[in-house]
Amino acid sequence: MLDRVALGERLDLMRAEIAQAARDTGRSPDELTLIVVTKFHPPELIQALVDLGVRDIGENRHQEAAAKHDLLSELNVTWHFIGQLQSKKARQVARYADVIHSIDRAALVEALAPIDRTIDCFLQVNLTDDPNRGGVAPGDLIALAEQVAATPTLKLLGVMAVAPLDEAPETAFERLRGYSELVQTVEPSATSISAGMTQDFREAIAAGATHLRIGSAITGNRPAAG
Ligand SMILES: *Cc1c(COP(=O)(O)O)cnc(C)c1O
Repeated sequence: MLDRVALGERLDLMRAEIAQAARDTGRSPDELTLIVVTKFHPPELIQALVDLGVRDIGENRHQEAAAKHDLLSELNVTWHFIGQLQSKKARQVARYADVIHSIDRAALVEALAPIDRTIDCFLQVNLTDDPNRGGVAPGDLIALAEQVAATPTLKLLGVMAVAPLDEAPETAFERLRGYSELVQTVEPSATSISAGMTQDFREAIAAGATHLRIGSAITGNRPAAG
């Protein structure tokens, strides 16, 4: 059973903590977009969040996201796709996603070039040395940014990253801030930074994040993957 009261309390607490973290680093909470990550949770949770005033929802698996979107297509929600994306699924994701946070290679950009509308996107940067983790290697970031900037169907908002497990988020997100500046040399309007999860949103805010992707602190623990 969905406990709407507890959900509302966790949401309020997180909003307060985000606002405090912003003020602590001299930033305005208005600069921050809170995306609530609802992966593995049922569509009713998204409906309840929207009833509580949430307007940005994050999902990371195509089939699950598509099914929820189709059930809830009447909702006034911005859908953020934040998971790793196969090139052959990219156009299907673009059917319902308003923002894709995980653009990390040329093939994805090519797959999205022929869609019939403009979609907002972030370039996901790999902050680890492990090439199997999602994200473009920093050395390839400029070329990818140039490719996106030259693709009319894609509007580049900025960079996205997940903090590595084996490094303090402060230093990792400082590098991300540098990559953001690099991307802005290609696309000056791409000033957004998608970073910060339940465990590291304060460090992300301190490093300039504009889009926070928060799941379990708001939704409660995720049900097991189905
Ligand atoms: C699941 C997920 C999140 C949210 O994680 P929490 O730790 O539950 O806040 C954020 N970003 C991505 C890419 C995710 O997959």
